[in-house]
Amino acid sequence: MLKSNASPDTLDKRNVTRLRVLEHIRVRGPISRIDIAAALQTSPATVTAATANLISAGLIKEIEGDTNPKSTKRGRPRVLLQLDGTSHLIAGLKVARQHISVIVVDFEGSEVASHRHTLDNARMSPDEFVKVIRAVLEDTCKKINSSPDKLAGVSIGIAGLVDAERNFVHWSSSITERNIDFNDLLSTELPCPAFVENDANLVAKAEQLFGLGKGLKNFLVVTIEHGVGLGIVLDGELYRGERGCGAEFGHAKVQLDGALCQCGQRGCLEAYVGDYALIREMTVADQTKDMETVSNIQERARSGDQRAVSVLARAGQMFGLGISNLINLFDPECIIISAAHSSIDHLCSDEVMNRIRSGVVNVDAPLPEIKVHRWGDQIWAKGAAAYGIEQVSILKVKEFAANAA
Ligand SMILES: [Zn+2]
Repeated sequence: MLKSNASPDTLDKRNVTRLRVLEHIRVRGPISRIDIAAALQTSPATVTAATANLISAGLIKEIEGDTNPKSTKRGRPRVLLQLDGTSHLIAGLKVARQHISVIVVDFEGSEVASHRHTLDNARMSPDEFVKVIRAVLEDTCKKINSSPDKLAGVSIGIAGLVDAERNFVHWSSSITERNIDFNDLLSTELPCPAFVENDANLVAKAEQLFGLGKGLKNFLVVTIEHGVGLGIVLDGELYRGERGCGAEFGHAKVQLDGALCQCGQRGCLEAYVGDYALIREMTVADQTKDMETVSNIQERARSGDQRAVSVLARAGQMFGLGISNLINLFDPECIIISAAHSSIDHLCSDEVMNRIRSGVVNVDAPLPEIKVHRWGDQIWAKGAAAYGIEQVSILKVKEFAANAA
């Protein structure tokens, strides 16, 4: 059975409370009921009822903590609550241009298997796409002597404009057709619930659940790879926009009639900052140069190639301009620059920080913190798994409530 992505908006009040308690245990656990009640500003009885439901649903478990130093009953150990990691397996997939990376995690987010599948085609028809997803999941599950029907959910991250609430893809560079409703296609092909989401949103979700955004309410995640992505977390929730097309930071205009972007418009940020833009600039200057990676360009800049120095400097200035606009728009607690690779030094230099400072509207308060997170190759799949954990939590809480009714 497959359901479209669960939205907390459609939950009744008790389920919202259960999910808030579950989320607090994920972030702060192991934790006692009384501490949860204090943190969420609710009654101990409400927390006790919610945790009883979550234990019955198999999502959390009790463990014995240390002796409570404040307790008058000396020597009595405190009962703490933590996630039941063994309760569910969840797969996260990232569909990139040349490969699909997969990670299978337990309910606590610990990795139990991973897999990388090389794609024959960067762009696939919708039918081909879901068949490849199925085959990749089979291969990954085989590594742990399991099968896709044992998964509690699968989350699929792709670049492009995605309405995650409906598993609807307006446009993606990985799909040959526009406006595809993947709900029916995926439910026919897969034996478990599936959730499709924009890849930058998935990285924001990963930062929120087990990265630098843990415990923060308002933060932004900027992703750098082939293009430039943005995930917006406001008041603890991912903000997607009305049509699922929000947060297209890479296509924010930084230059009137500027460089041509892969989206077809001109002057977009990623036409100056994305990996492809840097490589294009260098190749235009000298087509004999072997400029396949940003690392190559950085290497040239270090050895004194003035063209490489100026291409990287311009990218840094455009990036700084874009980040200062984000601060002016959102005033976040923190901006996390998330990258899969290490070749973003030119975007974190003192010159870039100065550009950010000079672009932010003057107030007598420090800038939001800007943190750089170099994840390594699995950033996207981990993000997909994080989103999968959240969606499975919502489904399980809903199922529990329906069965109990
Ligand atoms: Zn663009």
